[in-house]
Amino acid sequence: MTETVPQARSVADGSAAAGDDGELALTAVLADAAGAASGLLVLAPLRLEATAVRRGLREPGSRVLRTGMGASRAAKAVTGFLAGAREPAAGGEPRTADGAASGSQPGTFWTPLAVMGTAASLAGDLSPGDLVVATEVSDGTTTVPLPSAGLLVAELRRAGLPARAGKVRQVAKIVRSADRAALAAQGYLAADMESAVLAAGAAAGQPVAVIRAVSDGGFGPGMVSGGLAALRSLRRAAPIAERWAAACRERTVLLAGPRSFCAGVERAIEIVERALELRGAPVYVRKQIVHNTRVVSDLEQRGAVFVDELDEVPDGATVVFSAHGVSPAVRSAAGERGLSVIDATCPLVSKVHAEARRFAREGYTVALIGHAGHEEVEGTLGEAPDSTVLVQTVDDVAALSPADPAKVAYLMQTTLAIDEAADVSGALRERFPQMRAPGSDDICYATTNRQAAVRAVAADADLVLVAGSKNSSNSVRLVERSQRAGTPAHLIDGASDIELSWLSGVSAVGLTAGASAPPAVVSEIITALSGLGAVTVTERVTTTESVQFGLPREVRR
Ligand code: SF4
Repeated sequence: MTETVPQARSVADGSAAAGDDGELALTAVLADAAGAASGLLVLAPLRLEATAVRRGLREPGSRVLRTGMGASRAAKAVTGFLAGAREPAAGGEPRTADGAASGSQPGTFWTPLAVMGTAASLAGDLSPGDLVVATEVSDGTTTVPLPSAGLLVAELRRAGLPARAGKVRQVAKIVRSADRAALAAQGYLAADMESAVLAAGAAAGQPVAVIRAVSDGGFGPGMVSGGLAALRSLRRAAPIAERWAAACRERTVLLAGPRSFCAGVERAIEIVERALELRGAPVYVRKQIVHNTRVVSDLEQRGAVFVDELDEVPDGATVVFSAHGVSPAVRSAAGERGLSVIDATCPLVSKVHAEARRFAREGYTVALIGHAGHEEVEGTLGEAPDSTVLVQTVDDVAALSPADPAKVAYLMQTTLAIDEAADVSGALRERFPQMRAPGSDDICYATTNRQAAVRAVAADADLVLVAGSKNSSNSVRLVERSQRAGTPAHLIDGASDIELSWLSGVSAVGLTAGASAPPAVVSEIITALSGLGAVTVTERVTTTESVQFGLPREVRR
């Protein structure tokens, strides 16, 4: 499946020529653009703003165009500049920035545009010098969405700058108190006089960012100090804007399929949702229901209370056991406390627990291949603590000393890397040739399928992004799987974890999500990438899944 995600934008009416205010700067920038490699083009309304930004720029390809203050001057400057830049230069070559990398056609102009200047704050908690990166800009009639705002804000914050993402409103004149309140009520964070017309003037598919530094926005005692703070922030933000520009290009996203939620995770989340619905908040959940920060915070907002141990649960309350399972000792403790238990343990984890009990009953030493400290491993170890030994590496196999070498069995954590687990089980088999194996694979279908799918996209990607939380074993394994295939990979909870430097020079991004990561995160990442240039999404499905698990009787309707 291939789908193109263009940058959604409205194109302004641009019939005017460059105006006086922008003309000097325009000439110089056009001359630069004729021979420059792709770089950042900053549109700054006023001389002070342009100077502040220029002082912060580091890259030789970056340019600043002073557009003049107010919508009409800005419109004349930007449409004049872009019209000039789109005309082929002498010799028929496009007056362009890096047409090959951007995919632009001869005679077109494609370069990342950043509108940078000061703004009036509309939110009471913004201070002079704070940066507002526009998620959209509007003049009240035309709205231009700017989907890479979250990436830019995260990068600014990582650089130590106070930055927020939000809506910016272009106004015709300096905003008075009453107008500020009205605009704030519509969800706008800041107001300026040019952003909408400048952003709308760009070509379709041309990446645009709007970075505004809050001055005090009016005439008053703090006007000078607020203005200086804003200019300082603009200077400091300039190299980050260059980093954003370096990440901009049209690219392909190779979407791994299957990805995201598995049947066990869907079931666990539904159990908590139904418990909240049927029993009302609060519903206590021992440990994270699944290892994902988004899922946990969403359920928290709906009334779930996550605890580490049962002693944090009040007597008689409802407690849900997470998808990773618990040991019999935890079940007994809950019974002794009179807690009302709903078990969300994944049936495939319960299967491993049952195997552990069976092997132990038959007198076997159980070698459990898994990672120390993982909740699932602790639960499985607890099923037969005297008979089970955790084996993490091939070296651990050599150190194993079972009571009877003829009676050894092995089990696995459900979310292991298939090849690494095979190395350890192979070493066990070599040392204990009579070793018993589980009746069916312990590494679950969802783990197996997601690892195969990410390997398929990693082969053709310059970079792989894996949506998932750091404590999600199966998500971490997807990162390792890509890295072992020779493709750099990063684990991200969401788009704001993407560092712009990762994307520089990257044309094909492999994208997947661990079994506990919500599908919405994948869409959010694609949208954010589309703000850096048009994205073509190609899905590579290696297998389809139809597994479903029933719900426990406590939450059946
Ligand atoms: S990853 Fe596998 S074992 Fe874990 S919840 Fe999903 S289906 Fe169950």
